[in-house]
Amino acid sequence: QIRPDRPHIRQLDEGAINRIAAGEVVERPASAVKELVENAIDAGAQRIDIAVADGGKTLIRVTDDGCGIPGADLALALSRHATSKIDGTDLLNITSFGFRGEALPSLGAVGRLTITSRAAGDDAAQISVSGGALQPVKPAALSQGTVVELRDLFYATPARLKFLRTDRAEGQAITDVVKRLAMAEPFVGFTLRDVSGGGEGRVTFRADAGTGDLFDAMRARLARVLGADFADNALLIDAEREGTTLTGYAALPTYSRGAATQQYLFVNGRPVRDKLLYGALRGAYADFLSRDRHPVAALFVECDPTRVDQNVHPAKTEVRFRDPGSVRGLIVSALRHALAEAGHRASTTVGG
Ligand code: ADP
Ligand code: MG
Repeated sequence: QIRPDRPHIRQLDEGAINRIAAGEVVERPASAVKELVENAIDAGAQRIDIAVADGGKTLIRVTDDGCGIPGADLALALSRHATSKIDGTDLLNITSFGFRGEALPSLGAVGRLTITSRAAGDDAAQISVSGGALQPVKPAALSQGTVVELRDLFYATPARLKFLRTDRAEGQAITDVVKRLAMAEPFVGFTLRDVSGGGEGRVTFRADAGTGDLFDAMRARLARVLGADFADNALLIDAEREGTTLTGYAALPTYSRGAATQQYLFVNGRPVRDKLLYGALRGAYADFLSRDRHPVAALFVECDPTRVDQNVHPAKTEVRFRDPGSVRGLIVSALRHALAEAGHRASTTVGG
């Protein structure tokens, strides 16, 4: 018996598909900032300027001095699953932040997006898309790089708009995202400005491009982001196991916190919020801290890209290691060793 109201199966149009994808890729203004800054880093930018207004709800503008997008490719950059970063043959060997080709079409589906760009040897051009409706490419003026401007995020999806928190809370989430990416890229200069109410705005975070070797730059950048106090109280971590390396700085137990808010973890240069890694960090300090205290650390795991799957979630903040036990073991033993040695040094100094 066929029900009279039997549903039809129909193919959704590209606009609807993009709005659905946007729900996963862009949860809040901070996720839009993350996608745009990652694109700038992938483009080889050395300077990235970020301007936001009203917690990113009305305006997010990311300006970079990277490779730019040729005018002829601007429309393609806004179409779904179009990317210059992979060719699709090897999903296990990814070294860029992006590869899914989803961010720009998603942002263009839920906000008003304008991209102005100039690639070397090409004229500057501009394209706009608003609620999924694409405007034709037109000539523009820009000396180098790319400016991506996103206005009125989620105006096209009012349900999502309602779930946003206060401008202050959304602004803090943006600052957190920018700081994490700034820690991951010590050789790139970052500026974050609040331009609410118009004008030049006010700089809320700035980090100049690092110099020297990686450890110099990393230390200077961590001091910039986490404060000179952290740098003065942190132990250098530099360890290796089965081809996986762990570098970074972990603070002394005396510099612990009442909440686990200052734990910054990176896998192959990507900021992650991964349970396995947080657990390993907690485990390493278990003998050195009481249960209500939390370590402060910035740790960078580097391994062969084939040993970790970053494609677990569209936002790519979760990862799956092929050998999680080995990664955990590396973190726990390297940190324990550094902490024990520091404790030993302290007690011999005190003892004279
Ligand atoms: P993905 O980053 O996964 O490739 P996106 O939708 O974020 O997908 O971007 C699509 C393409 O647009 C990128 O692959 C890149 O070629 C280009 N692009 C985006 N942002 C920039 C930028 N700031 N500078 C240069 N090219 C960019
Ligand atoms: Mg991207």
